[in-house]
Amino acid sequence: MARTKEIRIGGTAIGGDHPVAIQSMTNTDTRDADATVRQIRALEEAGCEIVRVSVYDEACARALLDIRPKIRIPLVADIHFNSRLAILALENGANKVRINPGNIGGDDRVRAVADCARAHRAPIRIGVNGGSLPGDIREKYGTGPRALCESMLRSVRLLESFGFGDLVLSVKSSDVAAMVRSNRELAALTCYPLHLGVTEAGTPETGLVKSAIGIGALLLDGIGETIRVSLSGDPVPEVAAARAILTASGRRRFGVEVIACPTCGRSTIDVAGLAAEVERRTRHIASPLRVAVMGCVVNGPGEAREADIGIAGGPEHSLLFSRGEVRRKVPSQRILEVLMKEIEEGLKTPPG
Ligand code: SF4
Repeated sequence: MARTKEIRIGGTAIGGDHPVAIQSMTNTDTRDADATVRQIRALEEAGCEIVRVSVYDEACARALLDIRPKIRIPLVADIHFNSRLAILALENGANKVRINPGNIGGDDRVRAVADCARAHRAPIRIGVNGGSLPGDIREKYGTGPRALCESMLRSVRLLESFGFGDLVLSVKSSDVAAMVRSNRELAALTCYPLHLGVTEAGTPETGLVKSAIGIGALLLDGIGETIRVSLSGDPVPEVAAARAILTASGRRRFGVEVIACPTCGRSTIDVAGLAAEVERRTRHIASPLRVAVMGCVVNGPGEAREADIGIAGGPEHSLLFSRGEVRRKVPSQRILEVLMKEIEEGLKTPPG
């Protein structure tokens, strides 16, 4: 049975039995609709499934009128402090709003946003982080996971008291351990879909590691219905990072996944070069297939037992294998050509 409630966001859905959705956030000035649409289209092209934009003034909210019809994926408006902007964003086509009910100016304003969201069949994401906890919760529980969960549950109860239950929840922290513990607690207490992310994760290198640990740990527990990998700078690489985390955690598969051994003294072929070339030539393929490039015939096939197709290098002849079983010998100078042909064949029969 599905762990969470299904929530529809525009033409897509998360929670229930739906796959974990990948989302990202633009870093253009939202008021510049053309630039924002360009970036969203690049995100769509990369495989982004939900996109969020900052809405910090009326001009941003107005720009949504221009942006929404030009993109395919659900559009989420990120609002801080101002319920009027949340309402305007919903009226102008936002498919979801992200608010923190604790900083939107009182319960009546939260109710007004909920009423508008209901009228537009849009869900609300409640975003809570350590920096915006109510004073009494901070006093009683500090700023750790318990405090984040208490703050979240208070907001959930408030929205539920208005008869609004189309909710997605996110408790975020830049502290990876705190983010993991908060989400584990929250997952045990609620059936709403959880949006996972490590805030201010950092540069692409550091951010990817932090996100892989935090988001990955939760995904392995079966927790998380949508994820955002926050990396400083251009958001497009966030999508590939999210895909890699989802693939590594076994929650989704995307196209051809190339696995390669790290190489060692036994290696007899250019593993890194071949793996990179196979990755480059198969980037356009959407069907899932796992391809292994291994450096030696001694350990290669065994180490890549899970691969659909693989090659284990030898000085003159290499071994072509599938699922850890050797199939035949191929001349080592023809590895790439043979591998590409096998991939083509492999795509005709779905992987087991
Ligand atoms: S597959 Fe062979 S070459 Fe690659 S790391 Fe393992 S032992 Fe070394």
